[in-house]
Amino acid sequence: MNLNFETLRKSMVQEQICRRGITDERVLDAFSDVERHEFVPAELETSAYEDCPLPIGSGQTISQPFMVALMSELLGLKGYERVLEIGTGSGYQTAILAHLAKEVYSIERIPKLALAAKERLNERGYCNVWVETGDGTEGLNVYSPYDAIIVTAAAPDVPASLLSQLKPGGKMVIPVGGRQSQMLTIYEKKESGVSTRDVCACVFVPLLGREGWKVNNE
Ligand code: SAM
Repeated sequence: MNLNFETLRKSMVQEQICRRGITDERVLDAFSDVERHEFVPAELETSAYEDCPLPIGSGQTISQPFMVALMSELLGLKGYERVLEIGTGSGYQTAILAHLAKEVYSIERIPKLALAAKERLNERGYCNVWVETGDGTEGLNVYSPYDAIIVTAAAPDVPASLLSQLKPGGKMVIPVGGRQSQMLTIYEKKESGVSTRDVCACVFVPLLGREGWKVNNE
C-alpha cells in the first residue's frame, strides 16, 4: 500500500490534537516533525497515525497520539529543561520530548524495548536523549534534580523517589490509580509543599517495580 505518511501526520495533528484543545505551538511542531510510523512495528506502520494506542511487543503499547500530546503540553516545556521520562517503550514520546527540552533521560524496564528505542533514536540523530534500562520507579538520581518528570505507565501512587528528584518549581505528570483505570495527575513542587491537580481519566499499562506495582502481581 502506498500511503502518504506526511498527509496522515498532518491530519493526525489537526483532527486528533488541535481539535481536542492542544494549543502549544512547540508541541504541535514536534508532532508534525516526528515520524510516528518509524516507532511502531513494521506490520502496523499503516495504523501509526490512527487515534489509538498500538502494540509494540513485550506486552507493551505506544500511547494514543492525543495522550502523548496532552502529557507533553502539561509539562509546559520551554526548551531549557532537563526531563526524566519513565517508560521509554518505543521511544516516540522520548523523541517528542527531545524536540521540547534540552536534555531527556528515559528509563525502560524491559531491556529489549530499551535497546530498540535507543537504536531508533540514535539512527534518527537525537543527541540530547539518554535511554537506560532499569526500574524507573526509583528515578535516576545521578542526573537529578529534573525540571520535569513524565511517567508513561500507571502507578498505584506517586513514587516518593521521583518526587524527591523533582526540582523546586518542577512538574511531574503521572497516571495514578488502580490496575484498570487511573487519573492523569500533575504534581507540582512548590515552596509551600507539593500541589496536585487531576486532569482526566486514563488507562495505561502498569508501572512495575519497587515503588510501583509488584512484578509477581502480573
Ligand atoms: N511512551 C512510550 C512510547 O511512546 O512508546 C509508551 C510507554 S508504554 C505505555 C509504558 C512503558 O513503561 C512500557 O514500555 C513498560 O515496559 C514501561 N515500564 C513499566 N514499568 C516500568 C518501570 N518501573 N521502569 C521503567 N519502565 C517501566
